[in-house]
Amino acid sequence: VLELRLSPGDILYREGDDNEFAYVIETGAVVLYRTEAGQRVYVEKRGAGSIIGELSILTSQPRAVTVEAVAPTTVYRISADRIRRRFEEIDPILRACIDTSINFASTFTQQKARSAADAPVAASTLRDAGKLIEEFRLETDILRGLDREEFSLLFQPIVELSDSRIVGCEALMRWRHPVLDNVSPEHFIRIAEKTGSIKQLTEFAIIDGCATLKRLKALDACPEGFFLSINVSGKDIGRRGFIDFLGFTLEANDLSPEDVKLEITETALIPDVAIADKNLKQLHDLGCGISIDDFGTGHSNFAYLKSLPLTSLKIDRAFAGDAHSNPVSQSIVKLLIKLGKDLDVDIIAEGVETSDDVATLRSLGCRFAQGYYYHKPIPESELASVISD
Ligand code: C2E
Ligand code: CA
Ligand code: CA
Ligand code: CA
Repeated sequence: VLELRLSPGDILYREGDDNEFAYVIETGAVVLYRTEAGQRVYVEKRGAGSIIGELSILTSQPRAVTVEAVAPTTVYRISADRIRRRFEEIDPILRACIDTSINFASTFTQQKARSAADAPVAASTLRDAGKLIEEFRLETDILRGLDREEFSLLFQPIVELSDSRIVGCEALMRWRHPVLDNVSPEHFIRIAEKTGSIKQLTEFAIIDGCATLKRLKALDACPEGFFLSINVSGKDIGRRGFIDFLGFTLEANDLSPEDVKLEITETALIPDVAIADKNLKQLHDLGCGISIDDFGTGHSNFAYLKSLPLTSLKIDRAFAGDAHSNPVSQSIVKLLIKLGKDLDVDIIAEGVETSDDVATLRSLGCRFAQGYYYHKPIPESELASVISD
């Protein structure tokens, strides 16, 4: 990722230039203007966090404006190729919609006389294009953010329902973005899975999670059998080298494979059960635990349970969280607990928030739980004292 520094008065690009890059303003501010009959026509001012130059790439038009820094400014650039490639990858219908709105928006911004009535339409079409553009931006930001240590892990304890004793914890990733602040993991993980940077994020979770576990062990803080659960994507387990990487990182931190479980969503396994089966068997041979995450929300194709080497099923909070009030959720939870017993795998209920949840899950014979009722996700510094209490 290339960063450029501009001083006030520096030109980033000029109206009529060919374009190779779009830019994200990191700090500072720029003004956009056109030149008409030798006169500058001011278009707008943009500050930190906004993207500039992407429309002319998607419309293959020369630059419509000149961009000049009006303060000490840092921008980083995104190549036209990458923007176009990402645009090609999206759903064709969505692409057609965005295409139309981009064309409309760019014509609109080039219009000299603007009618007030057009403004709301242009604003909403620009928002559609904006969503796509935000993805370009986050994709770049993820890799850059890893370099700058913007990512971290929180740890949410997992407890035994009978006595609330902590048996393990799940690592949950957080991203403190310099401009957007906290970006939800659901959002950035989805983008990372689409764009390939999930590899780096998962490696970060494994490296950081294992380092934490090593420190906790050195403090003698871990209860007997304590494990760390790490979320991995379906893309990870299918990748050549993933198992070697995991094995290497465990060894480098003096951990054994039983110290770690991998959480994989049901939806990640279903597309090709045969391949999932092969990959999970390798993980199993290494000795790591394997959890199916968000169990019950996938396609509920139970056939794969016969062959996969699983150690636990995590019941999604959609069911576990309202089993006390919703009879349908309750019978699903009952069914899953029975299934767990028959298959000899642990059942972990997610999203346990109230004492009603706890009472219901206990009465249904669920053994493990995780949720705000017990502990929120917490940083390593708090985890050490919580687990050694
Ligand atoms: P998940 O794996 O199902 O994680 C559980 C989510 O439920 C977490 O959200 C957690 O903070 C939240 N949660 C825990 N207890 C409660 C509760 O009592 N009530 C409610 N309402 N929520 C509760 P979070 O941390 O926002 O993570 C969201 C999702 O992002 C995760 O869902 C997981 O799919 C993904 N994710 C998070 N970290 C990673 C990671 O390191 N790698 C990968 N691949 N995915 C991750
Ligand atoms: Ca999980
Ligand atoms: Ca889950
Ligand atoms: Ca989830």
